[in-house]
Amino acid sequence: MVGSEELYRKAVKLMPAGVSSPVRAIKPYPFYTERACGSRLFDVDGNEYIDYCLAYGPLILGHANPVVKEAILKQVEKGWLYGTPIELEVKFAELIVSLYPGIEMLRFVNTGSEATMAAIRLARGYTGKKGIVKVEGSFHGAHDVVLVKAGSGATTHGTPNSAGVPEEFVKYTYQVPYNDLESLSDLLEKKREEIAAMILEPVMGNSSLILPEKDYLKEVRKVTEENEVLLIFDEVITGFRLSEGGAQQYYGVKPDLTTLGKIAGGGLPIGIYGGKREIMEMISPLGPVYQAGTFSGNPLTLSAGFATVNYLINEKPYKDLEEKTKAIVEGIQPELEKLGYSSNCIASMFGIYFGKEPKNYADALKLDSAKFFKFFSEMLKEGIFLPPSQYETCFVSVAHSEEDIEKTVEAVRTCLRKL
Ligand SMILES: *Cc1c(COP(=O)(O)O)cnc(C)c1O
Repeated sequence: MVGSEELYRKAVKLMPAGVSSPVRAIKPYPFYTERACGSRLFDVDGNEYIDYCLAYGPLILGHANPVVKEAILKQVEKGWLYGTPIELEVKFAELIVSLYPGIEMLRFVNTGSEATMAAIRLARGYTGKKGIVKVEGSFHGAHDVVLVKAGSGATTHGTPNSAGVPEEFVKYTYQVPYNDLESLSDLLEKKREEIAAMILEPVMGNSSLILPEKDYLKEVRKVTEENEVLLIFDEVITGFRLSEGGAQQYYGVKPDLTTLGKIAGGGLPIGIYGGKREIMEMISPLGPVYQAGTFSGNPLTLSAGFATVNYLINEKPYKDLEEKTKAIVEGIQPELEKLGYSSNCIASMFGIYFGKEPKNYADALKLDSAKFFKFFSEMLKEGIFLPPSQYETCFVSVAHSEEDIEKTVEAVRTCLRKL
């Protein structure tokens, strides 16, 4: 078999940095996966890893879960793309509407990015206003409106975070720090006539794991409502992760619009956006807001997603997942604290912080990401694959065993000593 190093040498000539998504460009070269099963990845070099990256969120049941696999194979026998509606669309939509307080109607799309793009357009179309508020350091996919640099401190006008995004395109993207109600209230009071919606990750999962302070989300709901600004929960990570009904069920806060993705596709590409009926009825061909897609609601993705969500409903693994995740954090915290580091978790998400646990993006930027990467590399040698950046979140799956957890805690201790 061709090894990872050689594959990467070829890949860098063919794809920018050799990869299909930037975070995968691990130095000196990424391992190339040959197959995966349960909690494990197996690479082409003969190594085995306990996986806490889990494809950055979708794989709550672990790799190649037999129930999901069977659903996919069953669908494959019947064809995998029709370009017509299917029964499963109706059944899956019905199920999601029953689980998500904020979703009365929805559309299936293909990625989380597509979902947030459509939700933002819809919010603008519905309100007739242009402004969007996002939280500094929150990630909503790689499209223009939300690719805005997070300035620290005060609320600022957006400046693009990527070449190729004209300043004019993000002129209406405002930012506020997470866990900071005062900044949000000030902004909305001044700009309420201009602002269509606020979009946020209820729990931040793309600037390391950052938890909402007590009542923050409830207060955000209150302030947005008072100012007639729509609230969009980007639950692409938290959907089906914090609970069957996502963060909105977990925290008891009902947004106007919701985006889902990742877990909802059971490992195949998906995005979903949904919300209040009155707003959703603005979508074409009922209304004037356009959105469309060749692969939207495709049978294969829906089969995998529907099987996954039904598994979660029937098996109710949330408490068990939370306990496993807590066991990791409690196991590693004493060693981390001795070195001035920290960790925290919620449901089956956990963060290891090389510094103080952050409350917002500005705090997260103070973490020692170089140190984290050293730690990541040491962990890899121990057979543990963490997400390769301080700014990603670690995930635990149904497939992780107690033995996996014990081995992981032991490996963390070993690796911390080597830093
Ligand atoms: C991953 C992610 C997205 C983008 O989803 P893709 O399927 O990668 O396009 C959007 N929002 C959040 C919160 C995410 O974590």
